[in-house]
Amino acid sequence: LQEQIRKSDTLNVVGELAAGIAHEIRNPMTALKGFIQLLQDSVTEDFSNYFNVITSELKRIETIITEFLVLAKPQAMRYYKQDLNGIMRETVELLKAQALLHNIQFQASFEEEEFFLYCEGNQLKQVFINIIKNALEVTDDGGLVYIKVKREDAEHVRISIKDEGVGIPEEKIKKLGEPFYTTKERGTGLGLMVSYKIIEEHKGYVEVESQEGKGTTFHILLPLKFDYEEL
Ligand code: ADP
Ligand code: MG
Repeated sequence: LQEQIRKSDTLNVVGELAAGIAHEIRNPMTALKGFIQLLQDSVTEDFSNYFNVITSELKRIETIITEFLVLAKPQAMRYYKQDLNGIMRETVELLKAQALLHNIQFQASFEEEEFFLYCEGNQLKQVFINIIKNALEVTDDGGLVYIKVKREDAEHVRISIKDEGVGIPEEKIKKLGEPFYTTKERGTGLGLMVSYKIIEEHKGYVEVESQEGKGTTFHILLPLKFDYEEL
């Protein structure tokens, strides 16, 4: 089963809110972190468990805010002609440590030497990180995550990220990318929303192919003839 997802209406409203709220929360967060550090250094009794919880919860807030901030209307989005293979290779490098922790290997294939397109490289990297992380999270220790970059047709490139994890029930596929939709105890349900938003901004789209118990493939289709002037 395949489903093409576009959720621009929801995304725009959320995006505007996100920008404002995220910025407002960042400042008090910085103060909190500073004072907690001071406190930790000055208490005599061992409260290390409490401090671990506090630190981990603060990290979680930061993750949520960072993901939210990506939604903010980009002030200075810079689209450059960049090599997609390079961006993907850097992403894979970045995630290797996390994969290795679970003895998971990446199997990446690049059909062509280079795939140049106009893009915001850091944002695309964020998308790849989000989707590959999800793949890692459902992959058993010792498993494989497959990544493929290939030409779709004269005007599109297809990036596929495949796992052999639990899969997604058909009726849940349409919920992917909705704000806060998560099935994880410690999930934010923001990673895919942010990813879909970025791909939309690049005039691309996401397709999800999944079979319960067999695994999931996220396909990202991006236009190659992407003129800077169009933006
Ligand atoms: P989070 O990872 O914080 O839960 P995401 O937006 O990244 O938020 O993903 C939302 C939900 O989509 C996940 O909680 C999970 O239910 C589902 N999902 C995403 N990717 C996969 C995958 N590769 N395999 C199975 N389920 C997935
Ligand atoms: Mg995620």
